[in-house]
Amino acid sequence: MKTFLNSPSIIHDPPHVLEDIIHGHPMPPKHFRFDVDFDGIGWVTFDSPKSSVNVWNEETLREFNHLLETIEHDTRVKALVLRSAKERIFIAGADIKAIRSMQHVRVNDLIWLGQAVFDRLARLKVPKIAAIHGACMGGGFEVTLACDWRIASDSDSTKIGLPETQLGILPAWGGSTRLSRLVGVRKALDLITTGKLLNATAAKRAGLVSHVVPAERLETLARRLAREKRPGLRFRFENVFSPIIGYLAKRKVLEKTRGLYPSVTKAVEVVTHAVHGEIEKGLQLERNAVAELIDSARLIDLFFKREEASKHPASGGTALPIHDANVIGAGVMGAGIAHILASRGIRVLMTDVTNDSLARGLERIHGLVSDATRRRLVTKVQARDTLDRISTTHVPVPLNRHHLVIEAATESMELKKKIFADLAARVSADTILATNTSALSVSDLAKTVPNPERVIGLHFFNPVHRMPLVEIITLPETSPDVLATAVSFVQKLGKTPVVVKDSPGFLVNRILVPYLMEAVRLHENGIPVKDLDEAMLEFGMPMGPMRLLDEIGLDVASHVAKTLSNAFPDRFPHTDALDKMVAAGHLGKKTGQGFYRYENGKEILPATHFDLPRHESIQTNLALLISQEAMRCLKEGIARNADDIDLAMVLGTGYPPFRGGPITFARDTGIIDY
Ligand code: NAD
Repeated sequence: MKTFLNSPSIIHDPPHVLEDIIHGHPMPPKHFRFDVDFDGIGWVTFDSPKSSVNVWNEETLREFNHLLETIEHDTRVKALVLRSAKERIFIAGADIKAIRSMQHVRVNDLIWLGQAVFDRLARLKVPKIAAIHGACMGGGFEVTLACDWRIASDSDSTKIGLPETQLGILPAWGGSTRLSRLVGVRKALDLITTGKLLNATAAKRAGLVSHVVPAERLETLARRLAREKRPGLRFRFENVFSPIIGYLAKRKVLEKTRGLYPSVTKAVEVVTHAVHGEIEKGLQLERNAVAELIDSARLIDLFFKREEASKHPASGGTALPIHDANVIGAGVMGAGIAHILASRGIRVLMTDVTNDSLARGLERIHGLVSDATRRRLVTKVQARDTLDRISTTHVPVPLNRHHLVIEAATESMELKKKIFADLAARVSADTILATNTSALSVSDLAKTVPNPERVIGLHFFNPVHRMPLVEIITLPETSPDVLATAVSFVQKLGKTPVVVKDSPGFLVNRILVPYLMEAVRLHENGIPVKDLDEAMLEFGMPMGPMRLLDEIGLDVASHVAKTLSNAFPDRFPHTDALDKMVAAGHLGKKTGQGFYRYENGKEILPATHFDLPRHESIQTNLALLISQEAMRCLKEGIARNADDIDLAMVLGTGYPPFRGGPITFARDTGIIDY
């Protein structure tokens, strides 16, 4: 079928359904504007109505195709510029929401359609320039790969990359085929297998774009390039060695993922094979790969759960903006929280009992900021602004200017009650009082202050700058405005809030502790530490339970376990194995000895032999415990719904995302009656 899309195409034998989609009656475009100026430059502006984003779906692809058809016949057009009218988005990629609800056969049709339309763009005889300002991701970047030039604005909102593998699929609108031809197999593999997004400067360094300029200069630059000779693809010597590069990359990926993420392994195969020969061969490989991968859609579901939790406001209340906050305690958590707040534009007063503690806290923050600068995650100016927003004091000062206080002092109910009672005298009546306690009762704390409706728990996880989850702990008396403000505040920090009820261990620790304690019990009964860890790594956990206990600190773990064991004595029996280790001074990594021995911060691995049946029975036993406790939390209404529980466990503990979360796992495998 040579005349598919009414122009010679390299896409052979497309499904018939596409003919209908493509040849449906052309309507005036709703999502694009097209103008040709006096210089013969055709400006295609993507601007979906009533939306702040542009995405590719059947409708926008069809419109874009009709536009290309018009342009092919428009003799005035000597060059084409593709741009977006949105403030922060160039093209956000494929419409994942539509894909999620599509039957698989329709997804395959959509892949064909995108490939065919972008191929049509690539074949246009005139120079094509993508002027990128804002997020340019997935299919948004793939369309630019069909252009001759890619130029980008230096705005903070410009982010470029191909995150598809993180959703369990791979770039299949030409991205896996064209990127390696542009930047070489190694860089293409790095970008596609990690799914990372680059800012404009990093994108230029990686060769994804040729120029970076302020947004207001994109148009002038595009005009200039329209008159220049079209750049050809450079010969990439390394691409000759793609089989060996692919072999090494696959080995590395398998080591890291244990084969549990097929999209990443598949992407390595497709990229390394698609770099040679006809483009169509590569596109065919992309299509086949997506057809194979689309069945395991758990990661797409999870993406939606996270999107929803990270963007939707809490229902019922009015969120107030927070500009100033007081963080009490400059320890591991206090410093981490002060740092993240300041990096998001909030002025922070950090308090502690002595100048020495404050100095240590500030040193920690300086370390975090310079690490982020070194890794080019922030500019020097942003780093300086973050530090400038933090002030400190170790003497009591009036706090009536602050909208929010986050208490992150030492874990002791007596101390925290004293802090709360003292705070009540120094803050305004409507200042939100939040605690970062790991396991103490928020309700007991609320009793110490007038207006308890402003008390809430904000449970950040350690390390604060890396962990995406914040549990928001509410009480029956928490006011809807306070909850709405807390949800929007956490979202502003770039974290995902999950709202839970005040109950021992809240949600994540409540589910995690029985699992960790069962691992300790199995170890007491003779199962080697390494076997327990290996078994759960094979299940997909990022770290085995024994290593995790060493990381948390056995003293801290024992304290949380006791709280839960007191609250639920029938289900969380107390084991004194941890107490004995704590009494011997073996607190885990921080003392060089826990379940493992550590030298210079590195664990000394005990010998282990691989015992598959034993690993399988450990996995079943421990995974079941996690799912059981998750189901109990659901029944008790600790979280609002199953999605929140799944999301919290994935984001708070690294529960294997491809399994969808402990409740989805229970449902999928039938291990528990759902
Ligand atoms: P930490 O020991 O590192 O820091 C506690 C800080 O509080 C110290 O600097 C101490 O001087 C200060 N402090 C003590 N009394 C104070 C007072 N009256 N006023 C002001 N500051 C005071 O402890 P951390 O690990 O940062 O934990 C802090 C809180 O966060 C605890 O409630 C803990 O349960 C919770 N938490 C800890 C983690 C974690 O992994 N460390 C994770 C989540 C929540």
